[in-house]
Formats: sequence, C-alpha cells, structure tokens
Amino acid sequence: MNTKQTDSSQLDLLEFDKTHVWHPYTSMSTPLPTYLVESAKGVHINLANGKSLVDGMSSWWSVLHGYNHPKLNAALIEQSTKMSHVMFGGLTHQSAIELCNKLTQLTPSGLDKVFLSDSGSVSVEVAMKMALQYWHSKEDQRKGSKSKTKLLTVRNGYHGDTFAAMSVCDPVTGMHQIFDKVLMKNIFAPAPTIKFDEQWQAEDVKELTKLFEQHHHELAAFIIEPIVQGTGGMRFYHPEYLKSCRQLCDQYNVLLIVDEIATGFGRTGKLFACEWAEISPDIMCLGKTLTGGYITLAATLCTTEIAQTISNGEAGCFMHGPTFMGNALACAVANASIDLLFENNWQDQVQAIELQLKTLLLPLKSHTRVKDARVLGSIGAVECLQAVNVAIIQKRFVELGVWIRPFGKLIYIIPPLIINKVQLALLIKAMETVLYEDDCFID
Ligand SMILES: *Cc1c(COP(=O)(O)O)cnc(C)c1O
Repeated sequence: MNTKQTDSSQLDLLEFDKTHVWHPYTSMSTPLPTYLVESAKGVHINLANGKSLVDGMSSWWSVLHGYNHPKLNAALIEQSTKMSHVMFGGLTHQSAIELCNKLTQLTPSGLDKVFLSDSGSVSVEVAMKMALQYWHSKEDQRKGSKSKTKLLTVRNGYHGDTFAAMSVCDPVTGMHQIFDKVLMKNIFAPAPTIKFDEQWQAEDVKELTKLFEQHHHELAAFIIEPIVQGTGGMRFYHPEYLKSCRQLCDQYNVLLIVDEIATGFGRTGKLFACEWAEISPDIMCLGKTLTGGYITLAATLCTTEIAQTISNGEAGCFMHGPTFMGNALACAVANASIDLLFENNWQDQVQAIELQLKTLLLPLKSHTRVKDARVLGSIGAVECLQAVNVAIIQKRFVELGVWIRPFGKLIYIIPPLIINKVQLALLIKAMETVLYEDDCFID
C-alpha cells in the first residue's frame, strides 16, 4: 500500500521549514534559525519546546491587545457564523460599513472616503495610484499636460515591499540598485535630522523646500511616515518638520500622503502621529494594528475632493479592486479591536509604557556600546555602535525569556499595550543584558 505520510507529527517541522519555506529577509540557502510557535496568549508567545516568551515586538507592530483575546476571538467567531467573506463589487456588509464609519470619525478631519485593501504595501500602492489618477483627471479636465507623475519623499523611509511602495523606500536600505531598471524614478530629500524633542530649526526643511521649488510641476504627491521613521532606523523627528511638509504641499499644489501603517492607533502617544503636528493629510494609509494583529487588512483614506476628481475623470472610477477587499472577518475583528482600544483607555496604557521606558531604557544611553537610546509612546529603541549578530542575539533573547528581534544596529521594542510592569521590566532587562555580551555583536 502506498500511503503517503503527511501527518505533520511525523514530519520534522523545523527541518521542512528550513529547507522549503521562505522567511522574510533571510537566505534560503543558509537561513537564520526559526522558532516553532505552538500558541500565544496575552503578551506570551509559547514555543513548541515548552518555553514561553514575553513579546516585545507585537508581531511587527500589529498586536495591540495581546494574542488570543476573548473579545477579538468572539468577534471573529460571530462574523464567521454569518459569512467570512463576500465579494465587495456590488455587495456590502455591516462590518465593513461600521469600520469605515469609525475610521472617518477617528482620523484627522477631511479624510472622508475609505478604500479597503489587503496589506500595508497595497494600501500604499493604492495611495500612490490615487494621487496619480487624481492629477491625470484634473489635468485632463484642464486639457493640460500630464506632467504630475512623480513622488517626492525623504531618505530613510519605508513604505512596503511591492514595486510602487519600494520606489519610495530609502534607496540604499531598499536596495534600489537591484531593481533600478523597473522602479519608478522618484525624488528623494534628505531625511529629517532634528529629533522629536530637540529645538526646531527651519534649516531642516531647506533642501526639501528646494526640491518642491524645482520639481512641483512634476510632483503628484509627497509621501512620508509621520513622526517615526520605523524600518529606516526608529528615528523620531520633529513635529514642525511634518507641519512644514503640509505647508509645502499646499504652497506647491502637491498632495500629501501620510503613511500611518506603523504609527496608527496610539503607538506614539497620539491616536494618529499626524496629531503631533496638528495636520490632516490628503491621503492616509493604515494597516498593521488595524485588526489588533489578527488578520491582514489595510485602508487608504482620502478627501472628498480627491474621490470626486478621480470619479469625474476619464475612467469614471478608481482603477483598483482587490479580491478580498472589505473581508468580513478582518473588518469584524478591526471593529472589535478599535472598541477595545477605547474600553482599555489606550492613552493610559501608552503613558504607563512610555514612563517605564523612559525610566529604565533611556539610562542605557550611557553604555559604551550604545550610540543613542530613545523613547516615544510605546516605542523604545537602543541604537548600538555595532550591528547585531541576529542569530546569536536572537538565541540569547529566547534564553532570557523574551521575543525581541533586532535589525542592523537597532534593538527595539514595541510591546502590546496590555503589557504589565513586570513583563516590560523583563524586556528592558534583557536588552541591557545582551549589551554586555560581545558575541551578540559583529566586531
Ligand atoms: C509595515 C509597513 C508597511 C508595509 O505593510 P505590509 O502590511 O507589510 O505590506 C508600509 N509602511 C510602513 C510605514 C510600515 O511600517
């Protein structure tokens, strides 16, 4: 009898993972180790080997209320008994409508139209496409030349891994040279240099202003992560910089796209990081925390004027329509997650985390291996003088009972908002411990 063995208990799962499964940003021929997870609950990730880790990463900024939350689970179960998904072309449903209503109310004023999509990168694609189609429609009506086809952004940015998104990521860390021939050619200003709590100096937008002056006739939009440049180095820049971006966009007739995918829903101490600069963008991208870390879902919001101009244009509609647009399970869990944010008084949660990070993590600044330590809201980052050895430092963190995944010279945490003092202290202690271990660093 030729019964094929597919019982996973018989398979060496990790061995198969290593030889056949791609993981992000690691070699397929000599991959970094992976850890097999069996379950997760609250702030704990439970490994198959029985070890339980306190989560410092919120699964890449997405988890807000912890794993396996009874209310979020209930929202999913309830929705699944009605339907998990229906196509969004010609059909609609309560969970999506409620979510879009919440988003238009919570986000900065003027963002009245919502386009739902599957992931952060796609929401950026949608935002860029909206900006391009907006100017195409507008210039068409004026019988003008279709010249506004480029984007302006700042260096050290990160907006996702798909092609259009990649074209506005930092050219160096985004490895533009590999895809040079096929990437949109966009324009890069220097990264903001004045830090969040430093004295503001208008000098910081001098180069940016020049680029607006030189290129505005060909610029459809300016795109930026508000206040926090995340993947580009956990850099917290001055709110006046963002305010200037809004002013320059107005002055030079360029749309402002703000990518709140990492910063949205309380992470920086404001519900949206735009609020630090008291600005409203023309287009905003949301993702990551939108479903409390449960399912992939993203949203691109825009103004009525953008939506109307696109709709009055040549196509008569916006040219995008993901298969899983408005997925009902994702919308239902997003609604429950947003409700929980307010039930749990997210501001108190973030303030408590920030206070403890400031007390325990900022002093690591004086360590000889550390270049800088910084804290904003629920984000704590230690920038080292040397790059980390990911495989070794990761192993050490697991031994110390925490899940922290550093990259480059950065060891950072962004814990779920429900973390308690003892758990957070454990995370910070582990960050301090590895600083004393030479083999966790390269040279
Ligand atoms: C993570 C991230 C994205 C990409 O989102 P995905 O869901 O991974 O596609 C885009 N922009 C920012 C600022 C992000 O942090």
